[in-house]
Amino acid sequence: MAAFDYDLFVIGAGSGGVRAARIAAGYGARVAIAEEYRAGGTCVIRGCVPKKLLVYAARFADAFEDSVGFGWTSERVAFDWPTLIAAKDKEIARLSAIYERNLETAGVEVLHTRAVLTGPNSVRLTGEDRVVTAGRILIATGGRPVADSSVEGIEHAISSNEVFDLKTQPERVLIVGSGYIAVEFAGIFNGLGTETTVLHRGPQVLRGFDEEVRGYLHEEMSRKGVNFIVSDTLARIVRTEGGLEVTTGRGTVIETDVVLSAIGRAPNTAGLGLTEAGVQTSERGAVIVDEYSRTSVPSIFAVGDVTDRVNLTPVAIREGHAFADTEFGGRAVVVDHALVPTAVFSQPEIGTVGLGEGAAKQQYAALDIYRTRFRPMLNTISGREERTFMKIVVDAETDRVVGVHVLGPDAGEMAQLLGIAVKMGATKADFDATMAVHPTAAEELVTMRTPSERWRREQVAAR
Ligand code: FAD
Repeated sequence: MAAFDYDLFVIGAGSGGVRAARIAAGYGARVAIAEEYRAGGTCVIRGCVPKKLLVYAARFADAFEDSVGFGWTSERVAFDWPTLIAAKDKEIARLSAIYERNLETAGVEVLHTRAVLTGPNSVRLTGEDRVVTAGRILIATGGRPVADSSVEGIEHAISSNEVFDLKTQPERVLIVGSGYIAVEFAGIFNGLGTETTVLHRGPQVLRGFDEEVRGYLHEEMSRKGVNFIVSDTLARIVRTEGGLEVTTGRGTVIETDVVLSAIGRAPNTAGLGLTEAGVQTSERGAVIVDEYSRTSVPSIFAVGDVTDRVNLTPVAIREGHAFADTEFGGRAVVVDHALVPTAVFSQPEIGTVGLGEGAAKQQYAALDIYRTRFRPMLNTISGREERTFMKIVVDAETDRVVGVHVLGPDAGEMAQLLGIAVKMGATKADFDATMAVHPTAAEELVTMRTPSERWRREQVAAR
């Protein structure tokens, strides 16, 4: 008789958990997965997928405007929020069902309940009030939006969890925060015609990204009509007859219909029984793991956002897959977290891989920086002022490209392909040797010949 009910018990059917469960079951393991909300997790239900659908919807505003310069006329263009939300809901229900079906087809037992650890090999299913045992347990509970509880009236704000389910389109929205979720929703609401204000405490959006990209994004978003209140904080929200009245730390008063708090996410570990099971966590509550996603307890593992490494879906999937290969496939696999290409679906969009200029200057002694800013062809006869920005950061000592940053249409698609080149260790000479695809915007990436700046640390130090 087997010593445990299962070989593997996965807590959380999101990006990382689902992949780990399916692959482990494929190796013959007896696997169960618990999900307290909906199969698919954050990405499918209230993250990447519905967000991108809303981004597509918002972009039609520009497309209708641009079409006029190309000879189109349209009588009346109108947008209907409930139609969009219903279509989005239908699509994520379809995807969630596929996730569930794929798990079952792989032989994974899907349990619709919250699960909490009760020991190194046991889990309590709170919905069913029973305890099950497993040889290995995988924590894949993801992240959750954080709220600033010191703000008076914060209960009137919503998070990215609720924003996807708003029944009506707000006429005015105040978005608090400056991370990728904040700027993406600013683009969505602004594009759909909601009066949009972004409030953030720093001078610039998107901390951690290349400084020039941040500046130009701010400029282009402002040009599109997003209002920014910078270097200020959210102090108070009061419900009024007409909506919500927000007061900032510096005393500015804003009337709005919805406050979307997007100030960050934290690992989803509260009440999970980690202390009881002896699993160590960081100050931020993240499960501490080694390169094989092993926690401080030999039978317990963790992947995805709950470990707070690189909080992106493809990374969680890779970590889940590597865990299953290592523990059940007899093949030790380590996930390489370096040079992860990424996109921000702001408007305009950002695609990036590697180091920003500021970060590169901390690490390298000599850099050649190539930059270009131009009006893409679409914007010529459409009359749109928006410009695309591209930057290549090169280690001048080795000629290796250490960062590429694009702000403009299809930047996310470019980042995926740039990611291959940069991951392979491409040099600037390799970029130069690549023939352009004409006429595209991306061809600029292989036609920038002269550095815009030759930065040398010793010259800076000598000044
Ligand atoms: P999750 O996908 O969050 O899954 C965790 C699951 O565990 C959830 O379904 C949850 O209900 C369940 N759970 C939690 N606790 C328990 C419990 N005790 N018992 C049972 N079930 C439990 N990433 C990208 O790569 N690209 C994007 O464009 C992108 N956009 C995003 C937009 C938004 C608005 C948000 C919020 C996130 C976005 N992300 C994006 C991030 C991405 O969603 C996460 O990195 C990814 O989902 C992490 O996967 P995970 O498996 O770690 O956790």
